[in-house]
Amino acid sequence: MKALVVDPSNLARMVIKMTLESHGIFTDSVSCEKEALSLIKQNNYQLICVARTLETRDCRSFCSELRGNLSTKSTPIVMLSATDEQEPESFMALGITEIFSKKDISAFSDYVDSLSKATRNNFLYVGRILYVEDSMSIAQPTISVLNEHGYEVSHITTGEEAIKLYDEQDFDLVMTDIILAGKINGTAVVRHIRDREKKHNIPFPISILAMSSFDDISRKLALFQAGVNDYVPKPIMTEELLARVDNLILNQHLFKQLEVQRQRLEELAMTDQLTGLYNRHYLLDSASKKISAAKRHDIDLCMVVIDIDFFKSFNDEHGHAMGDMVLTEVAALLSDNVRNNDIVARFGGEEFIILYDHCPLTQAIEKTEVLRKTLEQLKPKGLTVTASFGLAQFNQQDKDFNDLFARADEAVYQAKDNGRNCVVSV
Ligand code: GH3
Ligand code: MG
Ligand code: MG
Ligand code: MG
Repeated sequence: MKALVVDPSNLARMVIKMTLESHGIFTDSVSCEKEALSLIKQNNYQLICVARTLETRDCRSFCSELRGNLSTKSTPIVMLSATDEQEPESFMALGITEIFSKKDISAFSDYVDSLSKATRNNFLYVGRILYVEDSMSIAQPTISVLNEHGYEVSHITTGEEAIKLYDEQDFDLVMTDIILAGKINGTAVVRHIRDREKKHNIPFPISILAMSSFDDISRKLALFQAGVNDYVPKPIMTEELLARVDNLILNQHLFKQLEVQRQRLEELAMTDQLTGLYNRHYLLDSASKKISAAKRHDIDLCMVVIDIDFFKSFNDEHGHAMGDMVLTEVAALLSDNVRNNDIVARFGGEEFIILYDHCPLTQAIEKTEVLRKTLEQLKPKGLTVTASFGLAQFNQQDKDFNDLFARADEAVYQAKDNGRNCVVSV
């Protein structure tokens, strides 16, 4: 289930979002109606919470618009108001489902609770479960309940099979009995999973739920130490099991979302927005690693500084937007023409840098000459664009990036002096 919160107040948004998420409801929250409408186009919400006082328009007209919208025609719309509403009927008449006071968030919370229960049959979450249980009489009813609630269950009876299946497929949750039919027990399965996660640097550990009939506290502790997230005693109470499974799967989804966001941020931090190449920050970081490796293992490493010729005049003549287009095309040309281990970055403005890894100077000169010619023939939008290329090879006296860069940069100056559109190596 998914909800949308539209409220200009940061604090209110946070409180409402937390209330919804504590009921396992994925929540998007925005401060203005415009953003809300664009999210509604892309998502299917089962609940919309709007503030009484919106940023740019009257709450009534916003709700009428939602009611007129095909995708939100029958979605529950809840209004949260900071003051006690004088004429609640007038809002209800516009299609608002419920009105709550922000002063009494517990009433809102109760409403959300009943709504999420009612929606349960529409499946709160989706998820794939690996279920290890050697007793068919226990497994069968448990699988039925999980299936009824929308979960996909792969059931197996031995630890050996569990390990094999876990290694081969993707799951959102592992549920395991402890005493199993084969040689490997549930605790060993848990250890195998956690070891594998460490070995492969898996960023989000899978949730594991253990189930057993023993009630010995030290054995339970051993299970948690092995890496389980939760424990259900046998005989299994269906409601308790479902509540725990929902929780663990929700956590897993949130973990994944966080990981996706983290990766996206990392990507943003190292790429140049216009060209999609690595940015200066990433270049400095990775170049220093390559330089250390070259120093230690005596690897041939070459740097090319590329500076587009007369780019200021190009902008003046054809406009900045056209200039941007040229930068993007040059970037694509460069990255299409280097090997995987080479690094191409936008160093700034109209300057690019390539690091040729495992490449002696003679070969680097040849490759750069090919780049120069290809660029000369590129003719984006029919216009001739050229660049000057300065090339330097790493030598053992270079302390860091700056030493190597200074020579390559010097070479570019010489290339400009030599009439541009040429390669100079030092
Ligand atoms: P030279 O041949 O000596 O390199 O001349 P130049 O005009 O290329 O060199 P100069 O350093 O004088 O000017 C660089 C120009 O690059 C100036 C600036 O407007 C342009 N430039 C830098 N970044 C961008 C950008 O992101 N987009 C566009 N369109 N132009 C940019
Ligand atoms: Mg058993
Ligand atoms: Mg320049
Ligand atoms: Mg230039």
